[in-house]
Amino acid sequence: MPRVQIKKNDMVYVLSGKDRGKTGKVLKVFVDKNKAVIEGINQIQKHTRPNPQKNIKGGILPKESPIHLSNLMVVCKRCNKHSRIGFSVMPDGRKARVCKSCNELLDE
Ligand SMILES: [Zn+2]
Repeated sequence: MPRVQIKKNDMVYVLSGKDRGKTGKVLKVFVDKNKAVIEGINQIQKHTRPNPQKNIKGGILPKESPIHLSNLMVVCKRCNKHSRIGFSVMPDGRKARVCKSCNELLDE
């Protein structure tokens, strides 16, 4: 089972695609697909047909499409770098993510 290092509400840095180099907030993680939706990143123009019976006006709406987790890196809140993430076991046995640049815990 792959270790998911990216969680909802994380800030992440985009490594590839048209939004390469940008950062955004994780809105949703699809664990089974190893993908995540990032606010304002990888937007597609979604065409909607008008449907007066359902009161849908139609038109073109921007919508974020999911990005594969391998194209994302977590941005550390402490050192503000997109860094490699390690795991540390807490005294109570829980696993916490650790920034490999500054060694700070990413999870409370
Ligand atoms: Zn850090």
